[in-house]
Amino acid sequence: MKYTNQFGESVQISASDEIWLNDEFFAREMAKLPSDAPRAGLAYRVSTKGQVDHDDIPMQKIECRKFCAQHGWRVVLEKAEKGVSGSKVSATKRDAIQELKAEAEKGNIDILLVFLFDRLGRIESETPYVVEWFVKHGVEVWSTREGQQKIDSHTDKLINYIRFWQAAGESEKIAERVATRIQQLNSSGHYSGGTVAYGYRAVHKGRVNKKGQPVKDLEVAPEEAPIVQELFELAAFEGKSAYAMAEMLNNRGLRTHSGVKFTPVHVLRILRHEGYLGYIVTRSVKSQHLPELEIISPELFQKANKMVDMRCTSNAEARKVAHKSDNNTLLAGLVYCAHCGAKMSGFMHHDRYKLRDGTVKESLKPKYNCYQRAQKLRDCDGQALYLADRVDGIVLEVVRELFSSIRCAPRDKLLEQKIRQEYQDKRKQKATLEKKLQDCEHALERYEAEVLRCLDGESGFSQEMLARLIAKAEAELRAARQEYAKVLQEAEDDRELAQKIKECYRQFCGWAEEFELAPLARKRMILNELLEKVEVGKGYQVTVHVKLTYKQFLELCQTEENSENSLRNTTDGNVA
Ligand SMILES: [Zn+2]
Repeated sequence: MKYTNQFGESVQISASDEIWLNDEFFAREMAKLPSDAPRAGLAYRVSTKGQVDHDDIPMQKIECRKFCAQHGWRVVLEKAEKGVSGSKVSATKRDAIQELKAEAEKGNIDILLVFLFDRLGRIESETPYVVEWFVKHGVEVWSTREGQQKIDSHTDKLINYIRFWQAAGESEKIAERVATRIQQLNSSGHYSGGTVAYGYRAVHKGRVNKKGQPVKDLEVAPEEAPIVQELFELAAFEGKSAYAMAEMLNNRGLRTHSGVKFTPVHVLRILRHEGYLGYIVTRSVKSQHLPELEIISPELFQKANKMVDMRCTSNAEARKVAHKSDNNTLLAGLVYCAHCGAKMSGFMHHDRYKLRDGTVKESLKPKYNCYQRAQKLRDCDGQALYLADRVDGIVLEVVRELFSSIRCAPRDKLLEQKIRQEYQDKRKQKATLEKKLQDCEHALERYEAEVLRCLDGESGFSQEMLARLIAKAEAELRAARQEYAKVLQEAEDDRELAQKIKECYRQFCGWAEEFELAPLARKRMILNELLEKVEVGKGYQVTVHVKLTYKQFLELCQTEENSENSLRNTTDGNVA
């Protein structure tokens, strides 16, 4: 049977996997578990990201059910929820997560399992809070792909946050997507005819088919590859529209492989073509990675596609605004009317006014207006027009302040100090435990040697006494070993965390550094990443909403800094 996976691709499922969809089979598997097995609730949800046009719930079901059986968890509840795009569902409406919350409150589940954590929240920034809610209600939260999500300390909170922050970048998912594809599909790894994507050419390289006839192979076309690279960069860093890019290519006299002018569709097809990552893609089958065919790095591919996704939003109004971002306002697509909540559009406003002496002056200024008010679609008592420069200026001021609050140099040092301190603490702990392990082992050896002397009647210990001592030494050894393993694991986790924190800071500081001098398009992109929205009301009352994820990060940074001293004091106390 064929099923749809999380990327909307059709994949073949083996019979041994498919059987997990059979409820009777699954019930029998569950019946084998002991009566005190942990109780799991499963939530299947179609991703709320982008347009919901595929149903991967059967795949989720297979994976989640299998996961539970492997972990010895009893599934007491399964909730499925099909595609409803996030904005259309009111928060109070009961959904899979709401129902699971109700069960958790009644104490009916011990574990909540989903396929990917992003399935927990209706919007991305919601996910950490959903996780936190369940953890606080004593429910472990797991994903089949990402493992357990814990929030029980500052560190976990940070890891948790960073994981979502990175997931937002989707880079991990692209990597996973590539890996999954390779796992699932096999292909000859050779060009097998058909249209050759822009940027490549088919040439005879001496390969012959089974019948001994020469066949062609793909190679990078040196004159086209830089153009492909340029398109990805324009999409990723300047948010240029497919329309503008098609025009640009046509103006240079370039044509597609079929000899026609470029259209926005051609450009989009190029930006979506995974083959540029170094694969031969035929229908849904992808070859292994072929480095010689790689034109675009996974990072650039992902960035460009994220921008394309943002433009392809299903919201017609938002699309209208996004396409207007070719004008020179800074915040197009981000500004909302504080009075009616509608998205505002940026445009060039033509003004014509008479001076006292009768001369007519004309001016062209970028302005924002409330779309709903202009179209009389909604009652709005806000202002008709806002000068874009003035609004932009206020927002820039706020953003500058934000960036200056995360100036990297001093904090980076604090962070490194803290990491180094923790690393040293771990090393001390490790050394202490190693000593303890040795002591325990020696004690045990001594007692065991004493057993022989005891049997010969030469020992000062009685048999009972020795048995007690050996049992005690064994228990101590076991405990010490467990503790040692735990410390090793913690050291490993710390190292990973330190790495991740560093990456996050680098990204933040990078922005802070480049922002001031960045060209308009780049500034616009950074603001789109950083800000949720900007509300503008009468008399230029501007409220800047930072995206929840960044807000959390900034808050965490602050706690990190504030708790620095107290933290060091307690560690010193422990050492002394
Ligand atoms: Zn309005």
